[in-house]
Amino acid sequence: MAFEVPPLPYPYEALEPHIDAQTMHLHHDKHHQAYVDNFNAAVEKAPELKNKSAEDILRDLNSVPEAVRTAVRNHGGGHVNHSMFWKIMGPNAGGDPTGAIADAIKSTFGDFNSFKEKFNDAGAKQFGSGWAWLVQGKSGLQIISTPNQDSPLSQGLYPIIGNDVWEHAYYLKYQNRRAEYLKAWWNVVNWNEVNARLQQAKK
Ligand code: MN
Repeated sequence: MAFEVPPLPYPYEALEPHIDAQTMHLHHDKHHQAYVDNFNAAVEKAPELKNKSAEDILRDLNSVPEAVRTAVRNHGGGHVNHSMFWKIMGPNAGGDPTGAIADAIKSTFGDFNSFKEKFNDAGAKQFGSGWAWLVQGKSGLQIISTPNQDSPLSQGLYPIIGNDVWEHAYYLKYQNRRAEYLKAWWNVVNWNEVNARLQQAKK
């Protein structure tokens, strides 16, 4: 079965005023759809990938035929990254972290504000397009950034929080003010979903 864009789990305007409805329409319906279409086209040319999940494909890029490897990395990455992104945001969200992630942030980064500062810094300093991440690695939680649509899964890391710093994620509302977007984004973070990902990471 071909990969599909998952429906947005809330209305397009639900993240206003932090993320505007027009950005959500373009981002979800056009950008994510394009990643899915191009990913499916690449997988079509490499039938050995057809029975694997998108995540498993990204975990083992070296086994992807060279002819489609770059397309899979970019568009498969785009599909998996955005599928996570829609779910870790939500209406009536934000605020201080709850549950296990709150404890993990505290023990790793000291407090939530220090963590946010480091995370936002990773997003601000990612030159050009990419993502800022909180990932689970073998030695615990760490903040990284990746260029383009590169997934932490391809580095053996499990993404727990990821913020999209491509201009398409913020330019309509924030124009060149990426730092402002990074700050505002915490108002829409769905900590229940982040906790679910933390639990998944430990498996
Ligand atoms: Mn995006």
